[in-house]
Amino acid sequence: GDGGLGETLIPAINKLQDIFSQVTIDFRLDLPQVAVVGSQSSGKSSVLEALVGRDFLPRGPEICTRRPLLLQLVKQAAGSGKAAEWGEFLHCPGKHPPIGNFTRFYDFERIRQEILTETERTVGHNKGISDKPIRLKIYSPNVLTMTLVDLPGIAKVPVGDQPSDIEKRIRKMVLEYIRHPTCVILAVSAANADLVNSDALELARAADPEGRRTVGVLTKLDIMDRGTDAAAILRNEVVPLRLGYIGMVNRSQADINTRRSIRDAIAAETAFFESHPAYQEAKEQCGRTALSGSLNRVLVEHIRASLPTLRTRLEEALEKCHTELRIYGDAPPGQTNAARGALLLQLLDSYAVRYSEMLDGRSEHLP
Ligand code: GDP
Ligand code: MG
Repeated sequence: GDGGLGETLIPAINKLQDIFSQVTIDFRLDLPQVAVVGSQSSGKSSVLEALVGRDFLPRGPEICTRRPLLLQLVKQAAGSGKAAEWGEFLHCPGKHPPIGNFTRFYDFERIRQEILTETERTVGHNKGISDKPIRLKIYSPNVLTMTLVDLPGIAKVPVGDQPSDIEKRIRKMVLEYIRHPTCVILAVSAANADLVNSDALELARAADPEGRRTVGVLTKLDIMDRGTDAAAILRNEVVPLRLGYIGMVNRSQADINTRRSIRDAIAAETAFFESHPAYQEAKEQCGRTALSGSLNRVLVEHIRASLPTLRTRLEEALEKCHTELRIYGDAPPGQTNAARGALLLQLLDSYAVRYSEMLDGRSEHLP
């Protein structure tokens, strides 16, 4: 069934991505990712946190996300106690670098701190922005395995160290991520602003005019003007999206200031949708479970559609590697560059073979 396919495919894609991120050979694979777009403070980081089920992203009323964050979620088997959930940054190698060994962050508050520190390392303290991504992996029993991208929000008026053309630059940075046909777009709009002015929908439409890979997310349903609700938007009657909208209630700034737990916030969200008369019909489109479910379906469909292209590109890249390997000849074992190159290529090779076996249905698992 679909669940099985997703369980196998998404981890496989994540592994390939991992390997490619270690390789310095000049090529890129456009692997499926999910990116959040929208205006500054529309709730993008909050939506990502809700998906992950943990507090770890810088959030707030002013610009917090100043570099793209590539967030790879890896579902872990449950039950191994406190060690079952941790984060790793690509820029924080462990004691035995360089392959597959990174410092484990068990404290999610420290993950948030490290994102801030690493952001400031490249863009300073004064609201500057950069398109250089931070790469973070989160291992947890409570996530769906997928890659998420948190992006800076659209801001119209430059502040601090921001360039005068801040809006144009952020737009360009965001489009760079979401223009790839393999990127699923979570277009986040706050329900207390007019949807026809939504930066999220405008950006999504520019990158995905037919709406094949755009999921609308409406945040802040709890703070809409008295007497208004988002039922018509959820029914897809206002700005129709092919894949429709999911409604959310995330934590308010007051909740963040008083450190309201995510568990509390989920309970409050559930209670909100259970009790609000306007959302009874749209219940299965509301809340974080609805969002995860919708995303997983879109992602599996999307991966299925992009497999043939992915395979062709992988084969081309492999052929190039083989040619390069022949140039090296038989390298003596040891720590020379050639030996390391050969080892890496061998690794890639065995992955590609297993990967294509898996695609052909001959094998279910990657090593
Ligand atoms: P981003 O800039 O798009 O990443 O937005 P953030 O996730 O940082 O959120 C911006 C502000 O809006 C924060 O103060 C959040 O607490 C608040 N916020 C986000 N979602 C909601 C929501 O659903 N309801 C309420 N009341 N506040 C929210
Ligand atoms: Mg943010």
